[in-house]
Order: sequence, then C-alpha cells, then structure tokens
Amino acid sequence: MGEGGWTRTTCPYCGVGCGVLARPRPDGSAEIKGDPEHPANFGRLCSKGAALGETMGFDGRLLAPMVGDRSCDWDAALDLVATRLRETIAAHGPDSVALYVSGQILTEDYYVANKLMKGFIGTANIDTNSRLCMASSVAGHKRAFGSDTVPGTYEDLELADLVVLVGSNLAWCHPVLFQRLAAARERHGTRIIVIDPRRTATCEIADMHLAIAPGGDVALFNGLLAHLADEGRIDEAYVAAHTSGFDAALAAARALDRDAVGSVTGLSGDAIAAFYAAFSGTEKTVTVYSQGVNQSSAGTDKVNAIINCHLATGRIGRPGMGPFSVTGQPNAMGGRETGGLANMLAAHMELADPAHRRIVQAFWKSPAIASAPGLKAVDLFEAVGEGRIKALWIMATNPVDSLPDADAVRAGLAACPLVVVSDVVAENDTSRHAHVRLPALAWGEKDGTVTNSERRISRQRTFATAPPLARADWWQIAQVAQRLGFGDAFAWDGPAAIFREYAALTGYENGGTRDLDISTYARLDGQGYAALAPFQWPRPAGTPQKETRFFADGGYYTADGRARFVATPFRAPAQTVSQALPFLLNTGRLRDQWHTMTRTSRAPRLMLHAPEPCLEIHPADAGRLGIASGELVEVESARGSVVLRLAEQPAQRPGDVFAPIHWTDQLASRARVDTLVAPICDPISGQPESKATPVAVRRFAATWHGFALSLAEPRVVNLAYFAKARTDRGFRAEIADSNEPEDWEGLARSVLVLDERYDVEVLAYHDAATGQHRFAAFRRDVLVAAMFAARGPLAVSRTWAVEQLGRALDPGDRLRLLAGRPGSDVKDRGPIVCACFEVGRNEIIDVIVAGGCRTATAVGERVRAGTNCGSCRAEIGRLIDAAELQKAG
Ligand code: SF4
Repeated sequence: MGEGGWTRTTCPYCGVGCGVLARPRPDGSAEIKGDPEHPANFGRLCSKGAALGETMGFDGRLLAPMVGDRSCDWDAALDLVATRLRETIAAHGPDSVALYVSGQILTEDYYVANKLMKGFIGTANIDTNSRLCMASSVAGHKRAFGSDTVPGTYEDLELADLVVLVGSNLAWCHPVLFQRLAAARERHGTRIIVIDPRRTATCEIADMHLAIAPGGDVALFNGLLAHLADEGRIDEAYVAAHTSGFDAALAAARALDRDAVGSVTGLSGDAIAAFYAAFSGTEKTVTVYSQGVNQSSAGTDKVNAIINCHLATGRIGRPGMGPFSVTGQPNAMGGRETGGLANMLAAHMELADPAHRRIVQAFWKSPAIASAPGLKAVDLFEAVGEGRIKALWIMATNPVDSLPDADAVRAGLAACPLVVVSDVVAENDTSRHAHVRLPALAWGEKDGTVTNSERRISRQRTFATAPPLARADWWQIAQVAQRLGFGDAFAWDGPAAIFREYAALTGYENGGTRDLDISTYARLDGQGYAALAPFQWPRPAGTPQKETRFFADGGYYTADGRARFVATPFRAPAQTVSQALPFLLNTGRLRDQWHTMTRTSRAPRLMLHAPEPCLEIHPADAGRLGIASGELVEVESARGSVVLRLAEQPAQRPGDVFAPIHWTDQLASRARVDTLVAPICDPISGQPESKATPVAVRRFAATWHGFALSLAEPRVVNLAYFAKARTDRGFRAEIADSNEPEDWEGLARSVLVLDERYDVEVLAYHDAATGQHRFAAFRRDVLVAAMFAARGPLAVSRTWAVEQLGRALDPGDRLRLLAGRPGSDVKDRGPIVCACFEVGRNEIIDVIVAGGCRTATAVGERVRAGTNCGSCRAEIGRLIDAAELQKAG
C-alpha cells in the first residue's frame, strides 16, 4: 500500500492496460482514480475503469470449493481434481485432458498452467479465450516477422500524421487510447480514417469513414499495395535489405483491379482513391486493427495484407509508423508471451520447433514436453462435445456464452465426465455444468503482472481483502501439480518467484535470437517485485529501461533475419446471406460492458447506457420488415435464435445488423448471441468468424410488454422475454410474454416478489380497452416496486421511474408514477447518455436546443457530459446533428 492508503495497480478490462490507484473502503468497495504516472493512461480512465470500485465485494462470490452442490475444504477438492486427472490420463492418455484459460488471468497464472500442461502432463491441450480476440494477429505477426512481435508503442498513435483504424471501434473498446489519439489530433491535426462496416463512435473524430462490406479488408489492402507500387511509393532499399517475397505478394494483390476492389468492398472509387492517396502520401502512418480484422475466416490474411503495406513502405518500427494490433483483454499479451495458445511454448518459443522444445524442457527439467500443437479453442470444445476430451479445467472465462455455436458448447460440457471451473462468481452459464468449482481471487485481491498491447508489463497488486477461502489461480494449479507428483517444479512461495523463473526462461539460450527477453528481472527480489514499475519488453539482462520499437532496421526473427511478405489472395467470408437468412450479423462490444458482464453488471451506472440487449438495424431495413424501434425481434441463424429489442440505427450498413456479445442467461431470457455464430475459423489462426453470420430477423410474438422495477430482484424466469439490470437501489427489468394473464395483480406480485405476508400497499390501474395495467407497491409511503404493462412497447419514463424507487412519494407523486411520467414541473432526464456523470438525453437536448450548444465540448461545459472518458461524445454529436437537421427542416 502506498501513500494515503492508495495502491498502484492495473485495470482488469481492456488491452490498453491503464494504471489505476485504488483505496479500499470499509464497505468492500474501493475509491478508484487513474494513475497519473502510468505511461499507458497518464491518469485517464474510461467509464468501466472509473466504476471498478463498484464491482467489488463478496455478493455473488463463490466462497468455498464446491463438489456438486456441497462445499468442501481445499484438500478434498484438489485431491479429487488430481485423482480424476490422473485416472483420465492413465486410461485415455494426456491428450484426453485440457485446460481452457483466459486473458483475465495473470502472467504468473498463465506460466504455471502452461508448465503443467505442456511440460509435465505432456499435452498442448491448453488454449485461452484470447483465441477469440487476437489469434489472427499472432499468426499474422509470426508469418511476417518470424515472431509474435508488436513493433510499435502507443506513442506512435500520437506521433503519426495519419492513423488508419481498421475493424476497431477504439472509442468504445479502447477508450483511453482513443482519448490519447483525439488529444493528439487536437494538437497537430492527425488525419484519421476509419474502415468499418458500421459508423461507430470512433468516427466522431474521423476525417473519412469507409463503410466497407464485411470481409472486404484483404481486397482493400491488396489494392493499396498495388497502388503503392504503381505510384512508386515502395521503399526499395528497405524491401531489398530486410524482406523477401515482395513480388509474389504484389502479384496476388494485383489479382483484383480497382473496379473489383470496389465491388468486393462496396466502396466508391472516389473513397478508395482518397484512402490510397492519404496512405501513399503520408509517411508517418499507423494502421491500428482489432477484432474487426481478427475475428474472420480470413483474419490472418487481413493482418498480413495490412503488414505488407507497411513493409513495402518501410514504415515500421520508427516513431509514428507501423501496423498496430490492439488486444481486447487485459492480459491477452501475457498469455501470448507465456504460451497460453495451444500452438506456442512459453517465452515466445514455438511448439513446432524442436530446438525450442529442447530449450524449454531443459530449463524446466521436465519429464515430458508436448510434441505437437494442441487443440485451439473451437476445436477443443468440439473435442469435448465428441467425447475426446474427458476432463476439462476452465479458468476465469465463460465459454458457454462466449464461444461460437454456444449451445453445442453447453451440450458438450453437460456430457463431459469432468468439468472443473475456477472462478470468482458462484454461478454463471458455464459453472452450472461444473462438477468441481474452485473459488478464485478477484481483481483487487490478486497479485501478479499483466502485459498491455504495447508490450508494457505492469503489476496488478492486492489492495482488497479476499474471501477467506479464495485462492490464486497459480496456487490452484501448483497444488494439483504437486498431487500429480510434480512437486519440486511447482513449489513457488508466491508470484514473485514465478515471475523470476519466467524472466529467467526468456533469457535462457536466447542471445538475441528471440524477441521476448526480460531476463534482467531474473534475480528480482520480493521487494523489487513489490515495487516493480511498468516497463516495456524486451529487457535482456543488464540493459537499461527504455521505450522500445522493433524492426526499423530489419532484424526480424526469421531464419535469414528478413521479414516475409505474404501473398494474400482475396477470399469472401465463409457464409453469405440468402433469401432465408438475408442479414449479415456483426457481433461486438458496448461502451460500458465487459465480456459476459459478471463484473460490469454489478455497477448500476454501467447499466444505464444500455440496460437491455438490442439489435441495431438500418432504418430502411426495419421499414422493409415493418418493425420499428422498441419492438422485440427474434434473430435466427442456422445455429440458433435469440430475442432482442430492435433499435433503428442509421450508422448501420443496410443489410448488416449488430448485436452485443455481453448478455447471459443470468441477465436475459434469450440473448446469448454466440448461439447464432457458426464455428467457422480462420484456417491458420483458428479464430472464429464472429462478424459475418447470416441471420433472419422477424417480429417476436408477444401479447404484452412490461417494465418492472423493484428493490428485490424481479422474478422473471418464467416469462417469454426478460432483460434485467441493477439500479442504484434495486433492479429494473424489461419483460414480455405471449400469454395474457388472467390475474394481472397476481402476476405483478410474483414478478415484483411481493409476498402476501409483507405489509405493502398496492396501487393498481387497469384500462381493459387499451390493455394497460399498472401497479405500484409502497411500504410506509416508500416505493418498493412497480410494474407497467401494455399490449405494445411501453411509453414510460424509465430513468425517472427508476429514480423514484426507494423514495417516499406523496399522493401526487404516486399518481404520476402510475402514469409513468413526471409532472411538468419535474425534469425527465431521459435515457442516460453519459454514464460517468449520469447525464440524460433530455438534459443534453435541452442545452443543444435551448442553450445553443453546437459542439460536444460546449455541451460538456454546460452539463459535464463527455468530459471524463469521452466515450459518449459521439452520441452527443449525433444529438447535435439531429437538432440541426430538425431546425433546418
Ligand atoms: Fe480499463 Fe481499458 Fe478503460 Fe483503460 S481504457 S480504464 S484499461 S477498460
């Protein structure tokens, strides 16, 4: 703990890896602020990071090891896991067991997990959910550079004159990096081009948005390579000195002429020409890419098509230049570094390379070393479904919601003879199928390191008290390893010792042949580890700390030291739309949510912006379907179906729809969107195509729609539709059903958990003609619950209604509550736009229309919206545009 009780640690969400200062509060939450000294964020935080303190506490935590439904002590649970693993291996061989881990675990956890599986059990069947996020970048880097090296740093985005963002909604998915870019643009006018099928919030600061057809990226960048050659923009000296394969890559790139590029990408000739001219004419160019590139059946080719253009112009590894993959998870990079992927060994060594296998085995003095790559995530779960994997240990991830073909994953787990889940939460959609559940440490309780997208290793430090029986992930694995007879190799006394061992391995027989070397930390003592400041790798033994870039002068990690151009012939997405499935579904993240919401859904303010899962669709498509915003729709693919609220969104490309990945069965009736996605993967990276699933959209038949709020968690599981969220004082839920109840008050009492024994006064209003039913329950004048129902989507001022929960209401307020809207003397803030300061849409419209604010900055000065993380500035911009349009009309 540092000065004033503050502890320096790192945000556990996205790959930006922001430094956080945290100070525990007596109630189990924590004060949180950005660390001004951390070089990733210099004190900034986004809405998710700022709300971290509200996601803590023991509520909903797994508090003891569980075998089935019975708690037990750690020895009993670990003995059982070790015994079952030993029996399975004895009967079916080492490849019958697997470990599926996560970009949420720390580098030390990853290192221990890999050591056990690859070096001691002797199988490479360990993969990570980072496979779903950035495996194509890893594969693309390795093909081009001979190593999984991110050449640049965040500073390059600030030094560039042109930043091209491909398949990256930086504003929502990497908000602090977006803020740094936006600030750089203010300072020196960086040009920004966004290439994305959707007009995302990131386009707020873009000079140009290319609404590319899904899967068109390879064609666009192939065309760029041909253009660079035609314009004489190739850096001949760099290409000759440091690369090979240029001619073949260029020949493949020329396979499509400019017209064909236009037709594949759906972009106009002018737009393509403008982009090519900007790239061609700007030396200091950084191309940032993320899931929109990676999550594709041609993801690795997309990465290489981008890298080809940077190699051809020699724009790599110099300030303000380079291809830049930004990772989704806080420690996706740490997993890559320690061999978290089934085809990698620890310390960036290759499983397929016999020399690397020898090095790692000699260092570990291990009895075995996996001799072939293991099963990648999607294949791994297919093997579970087919009964080839008979024992699976899942750590800090929720594959029943996050993997493609999610219902098949669920069925596979249900039939698997042994499922062990290490997690923080008592229940999620995956742990429901666990035979053994092991309580893990949460953020604030853990101790170790993570690596962000610019190769910067930072400490996550303990500052909160853990539940007494929760244990570190590395400790759980080491304990099982000891029970399997590998005690000496797994006898660390804490994460510092693991980090030292890992650092030593990075330097072992390295001598500059491998990119990842942090052997300067191989002798770090406990105090040094406790005080370890963020640093970028590499740091070979004896070298000083400095900002690092790779490849400005070549020095690639291939056999001949040259980078490889990769020929990337265009391939269309694996599936196309049809008459039966006429829309292409893109899945992705929302601004204020993280993964399957086990953490972010605990912070009420993070549920304000999007309390319900929506399907975004272009208004013209909605019009053709005859379905309007606010109606419920069933979205169906060849694999499954979900029910979502329709939201017309002009930012969508006609023909494409978008749905968020976050909702689970705990929070919504049928919103696990990965049930729709087919397990079709990039053949090299094994990363699934999550952004191009053909679907049909049709109205969901509900006879009534409702909105409920309650101090108690609403009881909604028997309804055909629900989506619930926490509020400051209780819960809110959107509900609907296909059966009209005979007893509305009985239904309301059931949904609102109003037991007859409780002394509540219920006010009710019914209008049989219009099908309106409203209930409000009071205990000594305090509103404890309310429910509104109607035949169609409800016009209730939800933000205002939620604010009345837990308040004493006078008779007039009670009537207004039943009416579902405030009186004329009370401001209805409308849906919340700025989660940081809880500023509603109506408040923003007021200062635009009545206050004359014409920029997001002016709005911020008046009502603070958009002045913290800045992620809502795009939405504010849209409200300004809409107001201008209305005025002009
Ligand atoms: Fe956390 Fe990413 Fe937000 Fe930084 S930008 S505070 S790392 S979620």
